[in-house]
Amino acid sequence: MSRFPDACFLVSAAAPAQFPADCGSEVAFAGRSNVGKSSAINAITQRRGLARTSKTPGRTRLLNFFQLAPAKRLVDLPGYGYAAGPAAERRTWLPLIESLRARASLAGLFLIVDSRRGLTAADEGLLEWLPSAQRLHVLLSKADKLGRGEAARVLRATTAQLDGRATAQLFSALAGTGVQEAQETLAAWLGVGRAR
Ligand code: GDP
Repeated sequence: MSRFPDACFLVSAAAPAQFPADCGSEVAFAGRSNVGKSSAINAITQRRGLARTSKTPGRTRLLNFFQLAPAKRLVDLPGYGYAAGPAAERRTWLPLIESLRARASLAGLFLIVDSRRGLTAADEGLLEWLPSAQRLHVLLSKADKLGRGEAARVLRATTAQLDGRATAQLFSALAGTGVQEAQETLAAWLGVGRAR
């Protein structure tokens, strides 16, 4: 059975005024464009079409809120690091994520990183953005593209680079690698589906 059987789309916000009420808890998903973030959201929520996977990278400039359970949300942040250019990106991105960061309901951030590429400077910038009280988990995506030994090496190197700032795991939406581990982390942070 799905971990989040009632997952549904809530709202697309182009401005902080459109965010849902700041109650309950939410976890944000961020990553460079084309890193596999939408595929990860769909795999974790087990809802194929929940987050739209992008044929044209970097187009979405909206924050998409999904409800996974009553007052428990997943926030899909716009992918960063693409053609719109750093100046345009800062103009549209920063006010939105600054407002998100200030929300009491933000429990943590899932950062999606291409396992073949590792943490980039843009990812490091985002890591600094998160207040230290909030939790951070890195999904090393598209792990199916790596051999077993190489995947293990990437996980070790990334964990060392994170140096205690975040937890990390291998992930593949395609092969299903690490989906359960990611679901469990997300559910625990949101306080969803605790063992009764
Ligand atoms: P987003 O832009 O970060 O939301 O990325 P998408 O989820 O739209 O995926 C970008 C591209 O990566 C698409 O061509 C996907 O088919 C591909 N992709 C996503 N997840 C995986 C995966 O686990 N393995 C492989 N091999 N490709 C993937």
